[in-house]
Amino acid sequence: MEWKYDIPAECAVCGQRVYVDIYGQGDCEHCGWRQDKMCIEYPDQVEYPNMVSFNKAKALHAQGLPLKPSLDDFIAGLKYYKEVEFDYDGELYAVCSHSNGIICFSKDFPPDSFEAQDYYSYEEFGEKAHIGGKLLKDIWNDVTRADYM
Ligand SMILES: [Zn+2]
Repeated sequence: MEWKYDIPAECAVCGQRVYVDIYGQGDCEHCGWRQDKMCIEYPDQVEYPNMVSFNKAKALHAQGLPLKPSLDDFIAGLKYYKEVEFDYDGELYAVCSHSNGIICFSKDFPPDSFEAQDYYSYEEFGEKAHIGGKLLKDIWNDVTRADYM
């Protein structure tokens, strides 16, 4: 059976019409918020499937800004979901938090053009991860997309 997003609802962030499934999930094409009950239940936490918290999404929308995660939001998503990715300068990068505690920062393709980096805490990743010597925290504004894998 085909999955249906055919129940009309109001986006929790922008108030526009969205279409959701029987679980109340569905993406808002107006502001980008992904409707999800858990995100609203924990409004200050970054919760899958969104990359920013519900309260931050509302604040960004009120300022007319896109729902773009900060590096801290991205790392919160990584803690939660373990596998995240982002686009920078036309290339796709991946960050995985492994069960042994190592956080691996790599490039999706071509893999040999980027030496994978291992970090031993989320804090270390946030401080030291880099692309060609440029710290990720310094170039984060130029990241064009950041999401769960
Ligand atoms: Zn919306």
